[in-house]
Amino acid sequence: MKVFNAVEATAAEAAAKAAAARRAAAVWRRTTVAQRVQVLRALWKALAARREEIRAVVHEETGKPLIEVDLMELGPAALLVGWMTSAAHRVLGDKAASKPWSLFNKRAYERRVPRGVIGLITPWNMPFLIPFGDAFAAMLAGNAVLLKPSEWTTKTALWLENAVAATALLPEGLLSVVSGGAAAGEAVLDASDMIVFTGSMKTGRSVAVRAAGQLKPVILELGGKHPMIVLADAALERASSAAVWGACSNAGQVCVGVERVFVEAPVYDRFIELLRPKVAALRQSLDGKRADVGRLVFPPLLDRIQEQLDDARKKGARVIGGEVLDRDNLLMAPALVLDARMDMRVMSEESFGPVIPVMKVSRAEEAVGLSNAGPEGLAASVWTTDLARGERLAAALEVGLVGVNEPSSHYAYGALPFGGMKQSGMGRRHGEEGLLAFTQAQSVLVHEWPAGVSDLWWFPYNERKAGFLRRLMGLP
Ligand code: NAD
Repeated sequence: MKVFNAVEATAAEAAAKAAAARRAAAVWRRTTVAQRVQVLRALWKALAARREEIRAVVHEETGKPLIEVDLMELGPAALLVGWMTSAAHRVLGDKAASKPWSLFNKRAYERRVPRGVIGLITPWNMPFLIPFGDAFAAMLAGNAVLLKPSEWTTKTALWLENAVAATALLPEGLLSVVSGGAAAGEAVLDASDMIVFTGSMKTGRSVAVRAAGQLKPVILELGGKHPMIVLADAALERASSAAVWGACSNAGQVCVGVERVFVEAPVYDRFIELLRPKVAALRQSLDGKRADVGRLVFPPLLDRIQEQLDDARKKGARVIGGEVLDRDNLLMAPALVLDARMDMRVMSEESFGPVIPVMKVSRAEEAVGLSNAGPEGLAASVWTTDLARGERLAAALEVGLVGVNEPSSHYAYGALPFGGMKQSGMGRRHGEEGLLAFTQAQSVLVHEWPAGVSDLWWFPYNERKAGFLRRLMGLP
């Protein structure tokens, strides 16, 4: 049986890490963007050279097939590093501000100032990619990082902390791990200047409340319920393969993964005919080799998914697969839930497992309405050969991440802001917005010349001066 593997940091340990992070932040904030780009590129090179160790520790903690460690953790990390380091100068460098001609003797520009210590509170589904990617962005922007990993994937985070320290490239304590559960998360929140929380809506809400009490900025990256909307004119081969991959990659434990499929009535039967053999062909193993689908990571998930499947069965759905294959090792067969309806839990609650509920709809617009009616707004996709219609429907979906004939690969596109609308989150990681979020604007005005003369609008006031200034400012 999988066990809780975190060693709970004591309050004194958390305080010592926070103090070290603050000392490191004071040193690091004095570096230039160019220096940080150079050091952090070298850091990634050193970490990537040890990728066999990353594959091993991530597989040990999550059971994901080794190929998925490459495709879903290391590959996107490499792409993010590439985009972030090439965009850093443009995004984080000083920016001259335009000014009225009448202020011709002054200079105005915007500086981006690091926030200080960034607290990252992360989940267990992508134990390397999420902490590493956000830590990289935060450090690139000039901050130190206190990382509170999921208690279910602490080893991966500790590997990262040790591997970073072993490079000796960064000030001591710039990236450190405070391990444990909720108490450690709260300690990190209290010690940080800004929090990026990735996890469930429930915990996200309590993190937001605590952060609000301390007036600290918080980015929330929460759960979703990706609706995949398949139109009658869709390329069904690609769409059915995407449904299987979108719902079952990482054993379905992907926040943007396909959680439900709405299919227009004329192609519903054909779509299912294509789907069934593709689900049946999925290979499973615990050793990470020759496998498509691994095990679940979080023990309570197995029962929660089984309850959702029971509920669907009771309400008249046809459930194919979904058996518990190895309870001790959290291995379940992927499940197809046919003839699903909105009153089934599997259509409205996040499953976060290898489950594909399929529901017939009369028109795509009906599916858009059903999707928008829920509290989630993370990811969605539309499948059609009419790209213009697909993009119109995509625009009507209230989600932060949308695909047309694309399931869920936004995370790897560093230039694209990543995050949810409605209760799926607040703020964005990635993109210019994601890098800027780790800084604050400092607006700088420099009076260049003449050195010893007062500005016209200073005391003393008089009517002649006022008339001239009014004309200068374009007032009638
Ligand atoms: P979770 O909310 O249970 O835990 C997330 C983190 O919060 C963990 O590190 C946990 O220890 C910590 N935590 C728990 N209580 C806390 C508290 N009171 N104060 C501070 N920290 C606390 O989530 P999970 O089960 O680890 O992750 C799965 C969820 O994450 C799913 O809902 C999934 O959709 C979501 N997720 C979202 C994204 C995204 O980018 N939007 C990405 C991955 C996962």
